[in-house]
Amino acid sequence: MYINGEWITGRSEFPVTNPATGETIGTVPDCTNQDIEAAITAADRAFIEWKKTTPYVRSRLLYRAWELMIRQKRTLAELMTREQGKPLKASLNEVQYGADFLLWFAEEAKRLYGQSIPSARENQRFLVQKSPVGVVGAITPWNYPISMITRKLAPALASGCTVILKPAESTPLCAKAMMEIFEDAGFPPGVVNLLTVQNPEPVGKAFCTDPRIRKLTFTGSTSVGKELNGLAAANMKRVSMELGGHAPAIVFPDADPVHAAKGLSLVKFLNTGQACISPNRIFVHEDHAEPFIRELSSRANRLVAGNGMTEGTGLGPLINELAIQKVDTQVKDAVSRGARVETGGRRLTDGGLSDGYFYAPTVLSGVTAAMKIYRDETFGPVAPVITYRSEDDVIAMANDTDYGLAAYIYSNDIGTAMRAFEALDFGIIGINDINPTSAAAPFGGMKTSGLGREGAKEGLEEYLETKLGGFAI
Ligand code: NAD
Repeated sequence: MYINGEWITGRSEFPVTNPATGETIGTVPDCTNQDIEAAITAADRAFIEWKKTTPYVRSRLLYRAWELMIRQKRTLAELMTREQGKPLKASLNEVQYGADFLLWFAEEAKRLYGQSIPSARENQRFLVQKSPVGVVGAITPWNYPISMITRKLAPALASGCTVILKPAESTPLCAKAMMEIFEDAGFPPGVVNLLTVQNPEPVGKAFCTDPRIRKLTFTGSTSVGKELNGLAAANMKRVSMELGGHAPAIVFPDADPVHAAKGLSLVKFLNTGQACISPNRIFVHEDHAEPFIRELSSRANRLVAGNGMTEGTGLGPLINELAIQKVDTQVKDAVSRGARVETGGRRLTDGGLSDGYFYAPTVLSGVTAAMKIYRDETFGPVAPVITYRSEDDVIAMANDTDYGLAAYIYSNDIGTAMRAFEALDFGIIGINDINPTSAAAPFGGMKTSGLGREGAKEGLEEYLETKLGGFAI
C-alpha cells in the first residue's frame, strides 16, 4: 500500500494468484481501518496545496508518468499477463491504451476553460471557473487492471483532485506497479494513494460516507455499483459509474456475413470475453445465419487456449473458479432450453490447463429470449447467436435489456447503419468497427450500465465543479 508517499508494510498479507497456473505470484498488505483513515487524511491534506498547482505543473507530471509507462511497457505487460491471464500481446495493447489516458489528460489539463457570460444588468459581470471536486475514491476491476486505473486517475489528477485507489483484490500487483510510476514521476506525497484489501466493503463504505471524500468513481458490476451509488447518494457525493454491459451485435442482411464473423470473433474472444463491451447477443438475419455461424465457429475452433506468456496463445484463462461456474451454468441452461453447441461448451483441462481456469471458446446457435444467457451478462468466451427477420424486430430485441453500454452494427448501407445507430439505446456503438474506444472518445453507458463518461473532455468534467462569480461593478 502507498499512503502519503510512504510504502506501508507490516500488515497481514493476502496472496495473488496466476489464473493460468494457480501459482501464488505475490502477496500484498490487507488494509486496516487505520490505513483507510490515514489514506483519507493524507489525500485531504495534500489537496490543499495540490489544487493550487497550475495545470502546467500537473500536465508535466502526467507526461512524465506517461514516459515511464511507455519505457516499462513490456515489464508491465508481463506482470499483467501473470496476474490477470490475458495473452501478452493483449497486455501490451492494454498498457498502451492505459498510457494513452496519461498523455491525453496531460494535454487536456491545459484546457480547463471557464467562461465569461454577459449580464442583463449594466453593472454586473458573470465569470465561470472550473475547480477540482476534491478528494476522489477510485475503485477498479480486475479485467483491465491498468487501463481502468489511468482512465480514472489521469483526469482526476489533471483536474487538481487527489486520489485514493482501491484496486480489485485479484489484481493489486498491477496497481502497485502503477503507484511506483506515479511516485517516480514526482507526484507529491498524499496526491495519489493506494489501499489494497481483500474484503472491499469497509473501503467502499468509507468512500461513500466520509465527508472528506467528495467523489466516488467506480468501475465494476452493476449490482455493486447500485449499492455504492445508493450509499453515495445518501451522502450527496458526486459519482461516476462504469458498470456492466450486455452488448448486442447486429449483422444486417446487406453486410458480408463472413467479414462480420471475423470481426465479432475478434472482439468476442478478446480478454476471454471478460469485457464490459463484449458482444453477448449476436443477431444475424436468418438468411445469413449459416455462413456466419460456420465462419464464427471455425475461428473459435482455431483459437489456442493457454498461458498468456506462451507464444501463439489466443485465449487466456477466466479469472477464477466462480467465473467458470457462471459461464458453464449459462451454457447448460441454454442447451437445456434448446440451444445448439456449434463448438466448445466445456471446461478445458487437457494439455496442462487443469491448474488454471480455462473454458473452450464456444458458439451457441438457436438462442432465444427464454435463456439466461439472453438476459445476464456473460463475462466469458461464449458467443450466442440469435436469428431475426426484420429491422424493426432486431432493434427491439437489441434494446430489450436493462444494460446500455456498447453495441455493434454490421451494414454496408449508410441508411440502415444510421437508423440503427440512432435507434439503439447504448453509449458506445461500433459501426463496422470492433474497437470504438480511445482516450480521446467518451466511454460510458446508459440505463443500468452507469453514470458519466470516461476519457475525452467529458472525462475531465467528471472531476470538476462549476463555480459562478457574479461581480457587481
Ligand atoms: P465487482 O463489482 O465485483 O468488483 C469491482 C470492484 O469493486 C473491485 O475492486 C471490487 O473489490 C470492488 N467491490 C466489490 N464489492 C464491493 C463493495 N461492497 N464495496 C466496495 N467495493 C467493492 O466486478 P468485477 O467482477 O471485478 O468486474 C467485472 C464487472 O465490471 C463486469 O460487470 C463488467 O462489465 C464491469 N466493467 C465495466 C466497465 C465499464 O467501463 N463500464 C469496465 C470494466 C468492467
